[in-house]
Amino acid sequence: MIEAAELRDRLAALGDGPEGVDRFAWTPELAAAEAWFGEQAAAAGMRVERDPAGSLWALPGGDGPWWATGSHLDSVRRGGRFDGPLGVAAGFAAAERLPGVAVIAFADEEGARFNTPTFGSRALTGRLDVEDVLARRDDEGVALADAMRAAGADPDGLAGAPDWLPRLRGFLELHIDQTRDLERLGAPAGAVRALASRMRLALAFTGRADHAGTTRRDERRDALAAAARIVVAADELAGGDPDFLVTAARMLVEPNAFTTVPSGVRLWIDGRTPDPARLAAWREALTARAGELAAATRVGIDVATASHTDSVEFAVADAFGDLPRLVCFAGHDAGILAARMPAGMVFVRNPTGVSHAPEEDVALEDAAVAANALLAALEELAR
Ligand SMILES: [Zn+2]
Repeated sequence: MIEAAELRDRLAALGDGPEGVDRFAWTPELAAAEAWFGEQAAAAGMRVERDPAGSLWALPGGDGPWWATGSHLDSVRRGGRFDGPLGVAAGFAAAERLPGVAVIAFADEEGARFNTPTFGSRALTGRLDVEDVLARRDDEGVALADAMRAAGADPDGLAGAPDWLPRLRGFLELHIDQTRDLERLGAPAGAVRALASRMRLALAFTGRADHAGTTRRDERRDALAAAARIVVAADELAGGDPDFLVTAARMLVEPNAFTTVPSGVRLWIDGRTPDPARLAAWREALTARAGELAAATRVGIDVATASHTDSVEFAVADAFGDLPRLVCFAGHDAGILAARMPAGMVFVRNPTGVSHAPEEDVALEDAAVAANALLAALEELAR
């Protein structure tokens, strides 16, 4: 049995507090957490290797392939202390009891520094555009390739990351619930059945800059007024479905001046639902609406798909026993791996649903329930 006190001790050694965590990829802050990973591995009698993407693997004896568990150690800006490390700590608790199981901390899961989420698992499964990501720069202008070098990783080896994939038989991840779903169900833990489909649309509106006072209604080509109608339409076209989430997340306005009719807008809309067909239909309907609006307003509207991730069904859900089943709307390393091997996720109740913020919290008694479900599943699968 894994007790809450053990998880508390493991996390206390990492030292994150309720003031929040700033731990981006390839930084000294992350290196400190990786030293903790090394200590946890040593205490469990495991050796540590770093794969070409910078992910850390704590390995049992032998050559594998192994079942593995774990999560990530990087955070978003001012993130919470359980998102990632809880899954790594629980992973070590399970691996210590099950010789033959590996623990992985995936590199740059949040992608907070270079907008490269699930970096380590994408690299491992060959789903990373290596040339593109290595050239990306952070807010200080540092290229990802240079950041990797500074952290002791070799960017020239990144393309070789998929060579490590055959070392894995499957992967399970324990993670904090980032919704109130388990709280609503009154359950301490749950098994994730699927990850929702996600689509990010990039829209460009081309109008004309004019004097805000002297330009008559029939002469205007207001890009922002058109964009506002599309923001509302995108939400309405989801039809009030509680499992269809739409967010107009980012907007850039030109010239963004007090007295000028907006001439240009770039808008990004994020849509998520478990049903890929509904997502495709939503995109089609929104594109049609944009065409009508363009004709009516003489604002040019271009709709492009910036990214699209299909929904993922987890092969491993039944191994978590009778925990309630969930659909998750966020991306995770286990979801990336699920395309290539048996994978699964177990979530820990989050009473407030808050995550990606210092207020993120769980009861470690709940985490222990999830950790024991993880242990039982690995026991069955890794036999
Ligand atoms: Zn996470």
